[in-house]
Amino acid sequence: ARHDTTHGWHDARLEPYAPLSLDPATVGLHYGQVVFEGLKAFRTEDGSLAVFRPEDHARRLRESARRLMVPELPEELFLESVDALVAQDQAWLPDDPDMSLYLRPVVFASEATLALRPAHEYRYLLLACVTEGYFGRAQRPVRVWVTEEFSRAAPGGTGAAKCAGNYAAGLLAQETARAHGCDQVVWLDAAEHRWVEEMGGMNLFFVFGTGDDARLVTPPLGGTILPGVTRDSILRLAPELGLPVAEAPVSLEEWRKGCEAGEITEVFACGTAARVSPVNEVCTAETSWTVGEGTMGAVTARLSRELFAIQRGAVPDRRGWLRAVPGT
Ligand code: PMP
Repeated sequence: ARHDTTHGWHDARLEPYAPLSLDPATVGLHYGQVVFEGLKAFRTEDGSLAVFRPEDHARRLRESARRLMVPELPEELFLESVDALVAQDQAWLPDDPDMSLYLRPVVFASEATLALRPAHEYRYLLLACVTEGYFGRAQRPVRVWVTEEFSRAAPGGTGAAKCAGNYAAGLLAQETARAHGCDQVVWLDAAEHRWVEEMGGMNLFFVFGTGDDARLVTPPLGGTILPGVTRDSILRLAPELGLPVAEAPVSLEEWRKGCEAGEITEVFACGTAARVSPVNEVCTAETSWTVGEGTMGAVTARLSRELFAIQRGAVPDRRGWLRAVPGT
């Protein structure tokens, strides 16, 4: 769909997947006025497809848009486009519960100008691809690199928005992590480099204690962390499973000492693409440590199973998180 200052959003249509042709002065390319989302459609037990919490992704896209001076995409247009594309592409999704359709909506400034001001023209694109989990089927344990050198988001910056520039700014740290044999970067707060925030594409949860005493802690949002839809799902699911949750700051030091003392028993990362993935090894420039047994812990496994069961429609959708796609 297109947007310009005189027509609002207009001309939405399904087109065969093809390269885009853009003016060399396209604003989005130069000044990064680009916001996007990532959400998934799953094949449910009855064979039809359902999208997980699309209204919440539509809301986050509007919030990201507001921060980047991009015109907000109406929820109705977002949902219609998701329905239409999933219905069209359903045959691509194999009948395999580990596979899902990953949907990538993106809104970018398409006006051709070098003027530094909010653009007058935008395009909304939605594309889909068939994926398994980010870390493959097994949701294998992840080894993470804590960067004390780089920052992802400063107070007042764009950390809470899902905008292209955040990811570009993270690549150097990401490659440093890889060079140290790690899969992912853990970001700390920009002011003190002390408080754990999130990872490149996932939010983090800490499990304190075991068995009936287990409880979850995740860093509070506070404007520099992306408000993950999966994070929110875990925050709501866990208490129903008898797991207390708190949004509270966790320092890097507390993470290390907590693991050494056996108080922190599991850590997991969660996101649409990553699902629920255990973090088993933590590296910094000075030291490294393991979390729990270094395998997927019981709490992580339980939450992962529970969330996946909801997404596949294997248990009743009591929270209204699944949107059935008409024509599937
Ligand atoms: N943090 C960042 C930086 C992300 O890119 C993502 C993925 N969108 C997440 C967290 C997890 O968010 P969600 O659960 O909505 O996918």
